[in-house]
Amino acid sequence: MSPRNPVETLADAPHEFGEHGGVNMSVEASTTFTVLQSRTMPEIFRGQKGPEHGGCYLYGRHFNPTVYTLGKQLAALEGTESAYCTASGMSAISATLLQLCDAQDHIVSSNAVYGGTYALMHDLLPPKTGIDTALVDITDLEAVEVAITERTRVIFTESISNPTLRVADIPGLSNIAQQHGIKLVVDNTFSPLILSPQELGADIVVHSMTKYINGASDFIAGAVCADQEFIQELMDLNTGMLMILGPTMDPQVASNISLRIPHLPLRIKEHSRRTQIFAERLQAVGLAVTYPGLPDHPDHDLLSKMQCAEYGYGGILTLDVGSKALANQLLDLLQNEHHFGYVAVSLGYFDTLMSCSGSSTSSELTDEDKAAAGISPGLVRMSLGITGTLEQRWQQLDSALRQTGIVGHSDRADRQLPTKI
Ligand code: PLP
Repeated sequence: MSPRNPVETLADAPHEFGEHGGVNMSVEASTTFTVLQSRTMPEIFRGQKGPEHGGCYLYGRHFNPTVYTLGKQLAALEGTESAYCTASGMSAISATLLQLCDAQDHIVSSNAVYGGTYALMHDLLPPKTGIDTALVDITDLEAVEVAITERTRVIFTESISNPTLRVADIPGLSNIAQQHGIKLVVDNTFSPLILSPQELGADIVVHSMTKYINGASDFIAGAVCADQEFIQELMDLNTGMLMILGPTMDPQVASNISLRIPHLPLRIKEHSRRTQIFAERLQAVGLAVTYPGLPDHPDHDLLSKMQCAEYGYGGILTLDVGSKALANQLLDLLQNEHHFGYVAVSLGYFDTLMSCSGSSTSSELTDEDKAAAGISPGLVRMSLGITGTLEQRWQQLDSALRQTGIVGHSDRADRQLPTKI
């Protein structure tokens, strides 16, 4: 079966027009909603009426129509029955895990996850809730199986891991989860459109929409994509982690993000196209580059089987330059002299963002856990942008690499640079 191209589902979804027939949906700025008859109110509280049952809304921390519509776009993107958007990627992850686990339950998670997710599972949940997490190499299915206990409720992984770029075998993990009657939660932040985790067997897909989906680094946002039952559970008036903990997305933000989803496919294709070429060129000059689009990447074949091919292998590569000092020197030159990109955390922006992972977005990990995940001190993560021309950007990168001595001066004339995928 060839993977679904999510743009078809997006294009088929009913369009939400604005209040006056506008081509864009209106922004519902109200925090509270009237009912025509007061007897309707208890029916909404009992869950008998809601957005899908009579078009009834209650209160902005519960469902908001604009956020709800963005949720429908996310559900179409991910191929899930339903979805709802949250104030951040972290709130989408924490609400999902807390909804699935009770006190003293257990999570099996990839040991290569974003530092905030690691901190949640490693440092916050155990003392507050007794929920413990076993961190495993998610590419080792046997290790995953062995780590499962009778208290395990969730297998958690990133589709493509931050920052090590290992790829989760989602069908394999799904088989294990099903055998044990537990849920597979996949963070698809690095690979929207490229991977459709739900189709590959994930139960719940979460996103930091702060990254590629929004694409402009101007909003913090997240999403939970799942079946309707789970989204309703998150909104339960007594026990719903979104309703009670309240990480609510602002409807203005929802409107803005909604307007950027139509060009997500174009952006992802261009991010992937450029990153593939840069990875090949960096490899050709003998650098320690990691990118799943390179045939010698350990998960290249796996990702090739699971991906929707036209979106490529993603917009992120890593370069191990050997030491933190050299990494910092390179980053400073790239930003301040060559204007290649910005030394900043985050990813999925239209310009290049780069950081030394071990001392930034993975600094929450203990030294042992960094080593186990494969995060070395000189590892530079680059989220390649799509501004400027590709050759202009390559010249900027190449010059800085030469200036630092990371690439020798001698091999310039005779090397053959790969040009296209
Ligand atoms: N998941 C991944 C893979 C991330 O890289 C990040 C942030 O960098 C998050 C989740 C958290 O997202 P947010 O910053 O939107 O809370």
